[in-house]
Amino acid sequence: IPYAEARETSKATDGDKSDEEEKEDRAAQSLLNKLIRNSLVNNTNQVEVLQRDPNSPLYSVKTFEELRLKPQLLQGVYGMGFNRPSKIQETALPMMLAEPPQNLIAQSQSGTGKTAAFVLAMLSHVNPANKWPQCLCISPTYELALQTGKVVEQMGKFYPEVKLAYAIRGNRIEGGSKIQEQIVIGTPGTMSDWLAKKKVIDPKKIQVFVLDEADVMIAMQGHQDQSIRIQRKLPKDCQMLLFSATFEDSVWQFAERIVPDPNIIRLKREEETLDTIKQYYVLCKSKQDKFDALCNIYGAITIAQAMIFCHTRRTAAWLAGRMAAEGHQVALLSGELAVEQRAAIIERFREGKEKVLITTNVCARGIDVEQVSVVINFDLPLDKDGNPDNETYLHRIGRTGRFGKRGLAINMVDSEESMAVLRAIEEHFSKKIVKLDTEDLDEIE
Ligand code: ADP
Repeated sequence: IPYAEARETSKATDGDKSDEEEKEDRAAQSLLNKLIRNSLVNNTNQVEVLQRDPNSPLYSVKTFEELRLKPQLLQGVYGMGFNRPSKIQETALPMMLAEPPQNLIAQSQSGTGKTAAFVLAMLSHVNPANKWPQCLCISPTYELALQTGKVVEQMGKFYPEVKLAYAIRGNRIEGGSKIQEQIVIGTPGTMSDWLAKKKVIDPKKIQVFVLDEADVMIAMQGHQDQSIRIQRKLPKDCQMLLFSATFEDSVWQFAERIVPDPNIIRLKREEETLDTIKQYYVLCKSKQDKFDALCNIYGAITIAQAMIFCHTRRTAAWLAGRMAAEGHQVALLSGELAVEQRAAIIERFREGKEKVLITTNVCARGIDVEQVSVVINFDLPLDKDGNPDNETYLHRIGRTGRFGKRGLAINMVDSEESMAVLRAIEEHFSKKIVKLDTEDLDEIE
């Protein structure tokens, strides 16, 4: 079912999701990230490299010229506005373009240039004179496959001889015919159907196999087995490349089955910190009381842009209505919206068209809006068992050290339970959360 429909069936609150919904959120989150991302994320960490053959020299490049790309591809890269390889691309690209081909497992957070890297590798390896598939790329969902396809089209803009096909649901193909496109991007189900049942792709002619978003992939029913089945059909000397934004043990085990004798590249996430954040809490009696406190805060200090987090969609909608009635320009980011709609809302907020973004936990996971200086936890973050969710708290208000612009976090507490959550969070980070009197707000200016 299309994503928008799937969302409709999910629960009213974000707190009581089934595992299936959680898993689907991962694919949605990943798509959302792609839709709203328009540049590289900043990362000052060092790339960790584990070479299959530790004695072979490690190449890394500082320019795209050093890669000796086909001129059409170099033009494509510059056409996309890339000036130099990203951190991960500096080492990943020489490895992927080496002769003989090397296998690679690469892990780095979303937005660090993985997709651009493997797309460039695929485009470099194909021979456009050969009218058959030479590179296969599998993605967890239809929408993610389309996003990768867009990058192929952009980067290959000056190399029109290379053609792209999508092995995705709804793309009917006659059994007995043969695919002529050199690059095929698709989901595991349809891809394996095209290879094994319809036999429209000859697996023995595949030279590059890319498995993207391995962490999302394994979270989805059946995808892991199907991916392995596809991989088994490919020639021994086919280049295997696997990418993931995270690296739990399960991803690692999967990666080792898919990619024999790999080189491994990892780029750690930049640490978030609360050091540059002033944290406060406001003691309230009820939801209404929290709203009044919020109005007081708005009346007292100038807030350029704020994000407000609520526990449930219902509270978020209620609060959005109340704030709009008070004359605030409010955007509501809610779970029942399709990913594309969510992306559009975030985009508008980034452009400053709205000053307040109200959202629930799940929706806003992983979204960074740099200009936001005030974060308000209308409800404190809880994990799905109802325990204090430190990680989400850090994510909502933390900043990466190097870009540590000062920030302000205000937590609304309205019960003994929420006070206990606040204390637990305070203790976890060993950072004082100061009580704020909303009748006297001079101190936070
Ligand atoms: P990932 O696959 O790790 O999420 P992407 O390849 O999608 O990362 O890159 C994230 C964003 O950065 C995209 O908007 C992409 O166009 C851009 N980008 C990728 N590589 C470079 C580069 N070398 N220079 C500038 N921008 C880049």
